[in-house]
Amino acid sequence: MTSLRSFVTYLAILSITQLTFGQPAETPTPETSRLAGYSSQSSKRERDWEKKLQAGIVPENLRHYMQRLSARPHHVGSPYDKENADWILSKFQEWGFDAHIETFQVLFPTPKERLVEMIEPSKFRAKLQEPAVLGDPTSHQTAEQLPTYNAYSIDGDVTAPLVYVNYGNREDYEQLDRLGISTKGAIVIARYGGGWRGIKPKVAAEHAAIGCIIYSDPKDDGFFNGDDYPKGGWRPREGVQRGSVMDTDYPGDPLTPGVGATADAKRLEIKDAKTITKIPVLPISYGDALPLLSALQGSVAPEAWRGALPITYHTGPGPAIVHLKVVSNWNLQPVNDVIATLHGSDAPDEWVIRGNHYDAWVNGADDPISGMVTVLEEARLLGELHKQGWNPKRTIILCAWDGEEPGLLGSTEWVETHGDELQKHAVAYINSDSNGRGFFFAGGTHDLQHFINDVARDIQDPEKHMPVQQRARLRQIAQAPNAEERAEIRKDNDVRIEALGDGSDYTAFMDHAGISALDIGYGGEDDADAYHSIYDDFYWYTKFMDSDFSYGRALAQTGGSAVMRLADADVIPYEYNAEADTIGRYVKDLEKLLKDKQDEITERNLELKEGVFTATADPRKTSVPPPAKPVPPFLNFAPLKNGVEAIKKSAERYQAAFAKWQTGGTDLPGQTATALNAELVQIQRSFLSEKGLPERPWFKHQVYAPGAYTGYGAKPIAAVREYMDQEKWKEADAQVPMVGQVLENVAAAIGKAADDLEKAVGQGQ
Ligand SMILES: [Zn+2]
Repeated sequence: MTSLRSFVTYLAILSITQLTFGQPAETPTPETSRLAGYSSQSSKRERDWEKKLQAGIVPENLRHYMQRLSARPHHVGSPYDKENADWILSKFQEWGFDAHIETFQVLFPTPKERLVEMIEPSKFRAKLQEPAVLGDPTSHQTAEQLPTYNAYSIDGDVTAPLVYVNYGNREDYEQLDRLGISTKGAIVIARYGGGWRGIKPKVAAEHAAIGCIIYSDPKDDGFFNGDDYPKGGWRPREGVQRGSVMDTDYPGDPLTPGVGATADAKRLEIKDAKTITKIPVLPISYGDALPLLSALQGSVAPEAWRGALPITYHTGPGPAIVHLKVVSNWNLQPVNDVIATLHGSDAPDEWVIRGNHYDAWVNGADDPISGMVTVLEEARLLGELHKQGWNPKRTIILCAWDGEEPGLLGSTEWVETHGDELQKHAVAYINSDSNGRGFFFAGGTHDLQHFINDVARDIQDPEKHMPVQQRARLRQIAQAPNAEERAEIRKDNDVRIEALGDGSDYTAFMDHAGISALDIGYGGEDDADAYHSIYDDFYWYTKFMDSDFSYGRALAQTGGSAVMRLADADVIPYEYNAEADTIGRYVKDLEKLLKDKQDEITERNLELKEGVFTATADPRKTSVPPPAKPVPPFLNFAPLKNGVEAIKKSAERYQAAFAKWQTGGTDLPGQTATALNAELVQIQRSFLSEKGLPERPWFKHQVYAPGAYTGYGAKPIAAVREYMDQEKWKEADAQVPMVGQVLENVAAAIGKAADDLEKAVGQGQ
């Protein structure tokens, strides 16, 4: 899934205009310098092999794979999805991998009946159909296209007055409250954007709405941003964004939380599956939304709520009355993961895992095939190098996931099925998804921040002729919100990587199994978006996106090098200073959040007392003042701060010993390295708490998690943070010691590795 493309494009434009000339040019790592985790000898050998991989990636291959994989619609359970799985399997095998397909049976609803009609004040029936485009051959494959819908919407048939709710976030409903507008018993219409789509029906139901319609406003996603399709690459009038609205209690099959959806797995009944929506929901185009929005009266929508349609945006309720009907086929469908293994020579029990999904909503050239093809080309090269005599030290596992779009089905079920083995053996999981042109980006666990920066220093940007790491760093400096933060970012030579939520297949690895993870790709310069529509196809991608596959090549070079470097290192190059710093920042964020809330609520209560809230900006409307709230109490963050300090100390010791070994140039004895690596692999696991997050026990990682109301977006230290966001201060306070204990466990695990490396380095000299 993963798409915030229009937003990212905006940021990119911002950053380019902000980039001043005369930035100090960063000197790239000299090619002769020693790779982290390698001896001088092994480093040189590794660089030679990686160069071969980088030189061998052929953009034309990426184009061919894409043409093949996106030739027909290939959603979960469709014939072409299976054909793709078989084709990918045959390729992995042809390239020398030990490969197989692993199948799960998951609940995957597909549309049976869809209806949106206006019955008052005039009659209108929504088309709910994306028209084919002349010249775009696959847009005509109507028979195989999955109709426009939101998967995991509950079935329903409702008729009610319509209310416009902007993005449909919690803040939007607070605003409606202030305008005196209720959504009780209404059908809400929300625009896409401003957060993950699944939050919209969830929050609507929490505000007693009985149905939810989501449309793509051209301001966020369409002609406001550039020419629309087919003249340009932006979403056209009838274009619809499909997508899952599965709730975020847990990803994967709704019927088998926490266990693999194997044929004989114990399943919940559909009515007991918590992740299906509470009210029916359907996505529509702005062509279909326009008559509905035009028919609304009531308050004029606040300025920030207005889109790019040629109407005055009103909130309603009514007089528009809408009839919404959604009925799905609730069937079990197979998801077929393709798993390919290249066995390690020295440490076969340590696994480096790389993956991308191959299922799409329709043809999915961008999402996900633009990422999938890079993994395939990496596989071809790894196989080729293996034939030439390269033997990875560790085992490499490449995964082509099925069923990502509906809810990370393929990857989650695989991780749940192989949880014990993975926790023993997994070194890291490296994900990619859609790929575009522009800036290198990475998210993940921060023990891999320095590592992925090093890899990105060795990859050339196809347009800017500088290392992709340097370009990403300049952008990060330019985008810093203030001078202070800019100075902080400048101090560090590494690009800071983002914390990940649950936008793609890394989720189960990281959040559930405690495996170090990365999500990598390129983007930010694409002047197009056809996300989850029938127009995201080969014709569109090769016209408006990475037409020459030069950034596809860059991603294959990045991903391939990262896999090789992790697989061959003498000591796995995790780095813990960045991890400690980042967690320290997260704790500071919690402190700041508390302070801000205290100030905000104090201020608000004062204003209420003074009667400020009874006056409104719009004198024609009366406004209901919000209730006074208790000011948040003092929260004792000491256990978290102590935990961070403990991690910092252990990390410094470990990195000092690591640096000593690296500059010393001595080889670590094989047995010492093996024992150390086994310990290192387990460190990320110590972030897990078996009980999981208080209200979402599937999420076991205590630092990285998506928010219950952010979906794809991350919410670090969610056990505490989520309660703070809900202003449940006592509950938040109660979580602090538990997370503090987890941080102490992490510090102890790093400390143990530091002891052992110090000992080894001492002995070696
Ligand atoms: Zn995707």
